[in-house]
Amino acid sequence: MGQCRTFQFGIHPICKQAIALDRVLRLQRELYNAALEARRGAWRWERRSVSYFQECRSLTELRGARPEVLEFGGTVCRGTLTRLDRAFDSFFERCQRGEKPGYPRFKSRSRFNSLQWDDTKGWKLKADVRRLHLHGIGDVRVHLHREVTGTPKAITVKREGRRWFVSIRCVGVEPTPLAPTGREVGIDLGIVNLVATSDGELIDEGRFGRNAAAALARAQRDLKRKQRGSNRRRRAVERVAQHHRRVRNQRRDLAHKVSRQLVNDFDLIVLEDLKVANMLRRPKPRLGPNGTFEPNGAKAKSGLNRSIQDAGWGQLTWMLAYKAEDAGRELHIVAPQFTSQRCSRCEHTDEASRRSQAVFRCTACGFEAHADINAACNVLWAGRAQRALARAG
Ligand SMILES: [Zn+2]
Repeated sequence: MGQCRTFQFGIHPICKQAIALDRVLRLQRELYNAALEARRGAWRWERRSVSYFQECRSLTELRGARPEVLEFGGTVCRGTLTRLDRAFDSFFERCQRGEKPGYPRFKSRSRFNSLQWDDTKGWKLKADVRRLHLHGIGDVRVHLHREVTGTPKAITVKREGRRWFVSIRCVGVEPTPLAPTGREVGIDLGIVNLVATSDGELIDEGRFGRNAAAALARAQRDLKRKQRGSNRRRRAVERVAQHHRRVRNQRRDLAHKVSRQLVNDFDLIVLEDLKVANMLRRPKPRLGPNGTFEPNGAKAKSGLNRSIQDAGWGQLTWMLAYKAEDAGRELHIVAPQFTSQRCSRCEHTDEASRRSQAVFRCTACGFEAHADINAACNVLWAGRAQRALARAG
């Protein structure tokens, strides 16, 4: 049995290999765009849709026309076609939900940065010599900072700026249960504090995180002043991307640390349902005259920071989920109704009890606490109730 797990490592191609990797990216991007073009054309001219399987079959025709595309194996080509297929799937899904998504787009060089091998052909992880063998590229050095357990089934290789990473998907990863601690915790995910626990702990991203976020905001402002198409703008875009990566990496490290700590310390961990929480917290979207999102500088920035924030919460929830499963801890997700307005001591619910971003003072019993910690206590109560219900039923 066992579970699925994804391990991510940096890889360090030598110059020749990096050139080859760039070449695969270029060829796969061509393939992606060509397949997208074919789907568009088939629909426009013949009202016919092209399936992933048809595309895979026509891959063999490439052997005559463009043999270099297949130089790196068929698996990576199928991986690219899978990506396109997923893009269409989510496009149709969103259409069905009544949204107005953009049609899948042609990928420019800067928007096509990853390659995937969805089966075990065309690559091999040689853990003992810390190398990843990629067909047509060679043995690339991997920074294996931890052991890969289970059976590797698929990989994704991606480029971020000048750096390269590999994600290795494994199945059959054996769990490593931890001894019970007899402690339980509720967690409130916030904007000022990433995490507040019912034990009274507040965790924010720290000075380094704030500095990185501020640097990102500066780089974004700087970018706006640059003229379109200029060299300075190109460099400014690169700087923004770099700051983005830095912020993202720092948040990922923090999420790893926090989730590890929580899973080590508690038998029961209760979280809010992120989707519902997001809907409650998200400011109402401002719609333009024809139903589109109104572009607005300030709004766009807050939207961007918000998307990073959402990603941070999602990441933390995901890490908690897999670490809890691995350690045999119980994780409950509850609907976050009234968690910020209810008093965790007397259950009195009143909007006015929340005095400010940080202060909660119950209008009925006078209980005073940090607002996020009070919310975290409510989350814990909701989780216990849910667990009791699940056990009774
Ligand atoms: Zn009260």
